[in-house]
Amino acid sequence: MAPPAIVFTDWDGTVTLQDSNDYLTDNLGFGKPRRAQINQDILDEKVSFRDGFREMLELIPTPFPECIQYLLEHVQLDPGFKEFYHWAAAKGIPVVVVSSGMKPIIYELLKSLVGAEAIDNIEIISNAVTIDDASGAWEIVYKDPQSPFGHDKSNSIREYLQRNGYTSELPPLFYCGDGVSDLSAAKETNLLFAKHGKDLIKYCDRENIPYTEFNNFGDILAKITRIIDGGEDYQKFIENKPVN
Ligand SMILES: [Mg+2]
Repeated sequence: MAPPAIVFTDWDGTVTLQDSNDYLTDNLGFGKPRRAQINQDILDEKVSFRDGFREMLELIPTPFPECIQYLLEHVQLDPGFKEFYHWAAAKGIPVVVVSSGMKPIIYELLKSLVGAEAIDNIEIISNAVTIDDASGAWEIVYKDPQSPFGHDKSNSIREYLQRNGYTSELPPLFYCGDGVSDLSAAKETNLLFAKHGKDLIKYCDRENIPYTEFNNFGDILAKITRIIDGGEDYQKFIENKPVN
């Protein structure tokens, strides 16, 4: 039987307050000014997200286990996420992380910030990492190397639905995100929650993709509750009306 809904979510800067990859780059890598330049180049489509992101990660000299430790000490959870996650679990609503980050980092943060049982309940679909045993050098392994995003989130959502047998009658699908790599995912779902003040909103306005804003998962919970429990139409939450 299909669940009442499925919630797909970005991880960095969405479930967490800090983007772990930006945090590593700014503090252990080449620093914020150069990252800001690469981000602008990605925004201006001069470089793909995949290549810009790889460049940032390549210049982090810190061994991978130390990177994870550093993030465990500094990255914070969205203040509303735990309550949202417990509500979803009680309703039988799957929460699926779809991330352009690296799985071992997300796994450790999820376990530490939300709890060990969250690992069994929240599926993580993301990129991987390889670590050279001898030198300790590490590198990102993109899930979809042919995609300019490195991880084609729309493809992962379609795969998830197929794999779980949700092919004909789909439950309402939601997506929560904050950045450029979330744009393609938005097109696969019914309602996109876009984080207030972040890049994703600029893209949505530019590409005419409907969204509703959130500041934290408390806002998402309030709106989804009205849709799932209150029977309200998700369309009424869309803040930028598409222009035809
Ligand atoms: Mg993000």
